[in-house]
Amino acid sequence: MSLFDVKEHAHKRLNILTGEWVLVSPHRTKRPWQGKVEAAATAQRPQYDANCYLCPGNKRADGSVNPAYTEPYAFNNDFAALLGDTPDGEYALGGLLQAKSQKGICRVICFSPRHDLTLPQMQVEEIEKVVALWQKEFTTLAANPWIKYIQIFENKGDIMGCSNPHPHGQIWSLNDVPAELVKETEQQKKYFEKFGKSLLSDYLQLELQQQERIVCANEHFVALVPFWAVWPYETMIISRRQVRHVAEFTKEENIGLAQLLQSLTVRYDNLFSTSFPYSAGIHQMPVNDGDHPEWHWHMHFYPPLLRSATVKKFMVGYEMLASPQRDITPEAAAEKLKALSEVHYTK
Ligand SMILES: [Zn+2]
Ligand SMILES: [Zn+2]
Repeated sequence: MSLFDVKEHAHKRLNILTGEWVLVSPHRTKRPWQGKVEAAATAQRPQYDANCYLCPGNKRADGSVNPAYTEPYAFNNDFAALLGDTPDGEYALGGLLQAKSQKGICRVICFSPRHDLTLPQMQVEEIEKVVALWQKEFTTLAANPWIKYIQIFENKGDIMGCSNPHPHGQIWSLNDVPAELVKETEQQKKYFEKFGKSLLSDYLQLELQQQERIVCANEHFVALVPFWAVWPYETMIISRRQVRHVAEFTKEENIGLAQLLQSLTVRYDNLFSTSFPYSAGIHQMPVNDGDHPEWHWHMHFYPPLLRSATVKKFMVGYEMLASPQRDITPEAAAEKLKALSEVHYTK
């Protein structure tokens, strides 16, 4: 028997943010693979689409009309999953059937007036305006004392269930802290109480020393494949400074974040020469709920693609029933992403 080596042998890795584990099977990548890398047919979209409900000047589903906006633009979701006037209340039966009312405000953010662009195709100055709008929305929503959490996210690509290719994201804010955030708050709190430092500051230090999973970085932010990544090319952006929420960033940090968002998402598109689908979102402190000195802002990218523009990873079988699992190691994924050009493949 050889000595245990995480690069060779099956093992599980701890997600320090959730306390959950992922199964890694590096030996399986040695299987001969006969699939081919298919180039995706990327249809060129027009700059303006008369039928798009997000384009400037167009009519939306609820009958309202978008202004002729020229910069990132936010509005209330016409098909909101949460509504502001839901009555407070609880339902409980025998301690076994439990429910609690959830109310919220759901916003849509158009990243650009241009129908044909995506984040990686936008200029840094344009992405910076998206970051500034995230900050403004965060501050406005947090001013409602009943709102406890503000989830900023983007679903990109139709395989992620995104119904409209116009570049946009969403913000769901609600009167409760959602499950993933309860876990992450708990884990960060435990660490902060024990060491007096943020969990992600120490984790980032370790990653910067090891240099095995870093994809790209600048003065203010680092993008890396987390040690415990589940999705083949999952990444995280972590702020070098411990900041609790997006509105705490300085102007310089906004520029840094815009730059890093661009270099990371361009790499993603270049990986399989396709508009790379993902679900991405910001994790930050709950609001109207104390100081949360343990919280360290970060952003997750969960892309489903595995080997090409059309071959995706499925979370089925063992993963649905037991635990998430991956073959390609986070180290190998980081190396691939790191090696890619920062110039978009269409240019
Ligand atoms: Zn559009
Ligand atoms: Zn997180």
